[in-house]
Formats: sequence, structure tokens, C-alpha cells
Amino acid sequence: MKQIIRYKCDVCNKEYNNKEDCKKCESRGIPDITQYPIGCIDGDHSDNAFYRDITFAIALVEKDSYFKHNLLISAYACRDNGAGDNLSISDNLCIGNHNWEKGNSANINWDKPATKRLLLFLKEQGITPTAWDGEKAIPVNKEFL
Ligand SMILES: [Zn+2]
Repeated sequence: MKQIIRYKCDVCNKEYNNKEDCKKCESRGIPDITQYPIGCIDGDHSDNAFYRDITFAIALVEKDSYFKHNLLISAYACRDNGAGDNLSISDNLCIGNHNWEKGNSANINWDKPATKRLLLFLKEQGITPTAWDGEKAIPVNKEFL
């Protein structure tokens, strides 16, 4: 008979054979939902970016009850690729982005039609657009509105 030792993450309950992997999992912690404000703009419009024709803004943020290291974030999305916009919170959001990227604001093209439509939409909804300054979400300069 052999004794088997396993390690369980205190946050998400996932089990590991290896103590270091478990510590790594725990170190991811629980995301601070307040760091992801509604209206936070995200996008990467650099030439080779996969979503270069889309500008996103956080629409809904929920804690993930299954995988507690993640948040469930749904986004408004405006597209300049002909695929249309998602601006209805009731039934038409861009859903399932669990790993909202912080720090992408540097690659946002504020003159892009999709970005302008999204900013106008947020303004009409009374939502303050924010962008990442590298550490936190800050209001987008009025010159963009
Ligand atoms: Zn974990």
C-alpha cells in the first residue's frame, strides 16, 4: 500500500500532485471585480492584432462560481469588419471573455470608427468610458468624447 499526497488549491479547489503547481494556482488569487469597471475600453488595433477591427468595452462583470480565479466578463463590441456591433445588454453582447487583458489601451486607435461608435454609445448610456493606464482604469480624456 502506498500513501498518495495531493494538494488542493484553497481558492478554486483544484487538486495537484505537485506542491509547487498548487502554490502557483493559489497565487493567482481572486480578481478584484472593482478593477474592471463598466465602460472600460479594450482593444488592440495594431496591424497584426487578431481583433484589430474590433473595439470592446466592459458591459457586465460577474464572479465565476466555478473557477474562482476568473471573472466572467461580457463586453460591448463595435466592429469595422462588417460583422456589426453588439450593443444590447439584454441579448446581444460579446460574451465569454474570461481573461480581460489589462494594459491594451496603448494599442487602441481612438480615431477608428468602431471606437468612436462605442464611445458615443457609452456616452448615450451615461457610462463613463475608462482605459487602462498600465495599473488601473482611468477616465478617457474628454477630447475623445
Ligand atoms: Zn486555484
